[in-house]
Amino acid sequence: MSTLNPFAIAQAQLDEAAEKLGLDKATHELLRWPMREYHFTMPLRMDDGSTRVFKGYRVQYNAARGPTKGGLRWHPDETIDTVRALAAWMTWKTSVVDIPLGGGKGGIICNPKELSNGEKERLARLFIRAVGHELGVDRDVPAPDVYTTPQIMAWMMDEYEAMVGHSHPGMITGKPIPLGGSQGRGDATARGGVYVVRETAKDLKMDMGKLTYAIQGFGNAGQFAATLHQEILGGGALLAASDSRGGVFCKDGLDAAALVRHKLETGRVADFPGSTPISNEEILELECDVLYPAALENAITQKNANNVKAKIVCELANGPTTPEADKILFEKGVFVLPDFLANAGGVTVSYFEQVQNTYNYYWSLEDVQKQLDRKMTDAYRAVKDMSDKMKVHNRLAAYMVSVARVAEACKLRGWV
Ligand code: NAD
Repeated sequence: MSTLNPFAIAQAQLDEAAEKLGLDKATHELLRWPMREYHFTMPLRMDDGSTRVFKGYRVQYNAARGPTKGGLRWHPDETIDTVRALAAWMTWKTSVVDIPLGGGKGGIICNPKELSNGEKERLARLFIRAVGHELGVDRDVPAPDVYTTPQIMAWMMDEYEAMVGHSHPGMITGKPIPLGGSQGRGDATARGGVYVVRETAKDLKMDMGKLTYAIQGFGNAGQFAATLHQEILGGGALLAASDSRGGVFCKDGLDAAALVRHKLETGRVADFPGSTPISNEEILELECDVLYPAALENAITQKNANNVKAKIVCELANGPTTPEADKILFEKGVFVLPDFLANAGGVTVSYFEQVQNTYNYYWSLEDVQKQLDRKMTDAYRAVKDMSDKMKVHNRLAAYMVSVARVAEACKLRGWV
């Protein structure tokens, strides 16, 4: 078993939770594998008249709690094992926030940067022709992920509706708002993360409006976290932020909204007026109350975990902490909000989109945010209670909460 294979990692994480829960052998084995997966070979007519053949996948990991749900990645390095791992993680993510959905994921091996808009549209439609009959609001619902956009979701919905011959906007989420997208989807991931930081701060009796924080990865999730942290917690100082080209620091706090504008205008955080440079390594080891890793996997490892000084680590990114680092952080007393809890706000609002599409009535932004807050707060509480009761770190506790719920649904159905 290669430790670099993401699906092997996902299975190993499940194994640990299954053992701790005392899960019976059949249920454990069932949850280690996708229930169903599709592999496609798609011939795409290119703009120059030639034909190129693309591979695509859709994995429906587990549907015991409801229709499967999960994004579509278009990436040159996509593999079936990455898709399987992400589908497994979606199963645990929908379960931890207790929404009535299972987990799925899909992808196409391609480099969208090398495709024209017309080629992207034809590829999106080809994918739906290949898998459309297996999708639907009561079967499996895709969404955007790496390198897929609301526009791609719109083409896919259009192709699907042409296939089935009736309106069915809930078959895909992350759509543009005029086509049935939800209010509040844009900042939902970061917002959900800040809600769970707020709950943590209450539990740890920290002065909520005075928390210092740092953000590694100033993209979609990181930028929203920068401003929402202050908006939701009523204050705080953003000490540092970074992107792939380096970071900026100010001991008295950076103006979060101005830094977002600077990033959008110049494409980077570097050279922000009134700041000094800080490296990506230093930002992870900064003395602060909350660290938001919001870039890539494996940012906190065995090598630097001992140097992390933040009291709370809120994982907006997927997989930023390695399993070895997790143990070190737990022993040091760092409070980690694990990825599939901390960044579950996105899928939660995707679920709200599906709900609104189904009853064809649309909520206000205020309603979306209120419901998201309730879901994230309840999920946080379930994980914290499990961690306290079983004396395990938060990630294992989150797994235990999620896996127990999926296992219960499998048993109630009479599968195991
Ligand atoms: P994004 O591409 O908008 O932003 C990523 C940012 O990270 C970029 O600013 C990039 O410059 C920066 N970055 C790259 N390498 C870096 C490095 N070594 N050090 C510091 N910064 C670096 O992506 P995003 O949508 O914000 O997603 C970020 C993470 O959050 C990913 O792990 C993603 O899977 C996860 N996530 C995002 C969402 C969402 O709704 N956007 C939902 C769930 C999980």
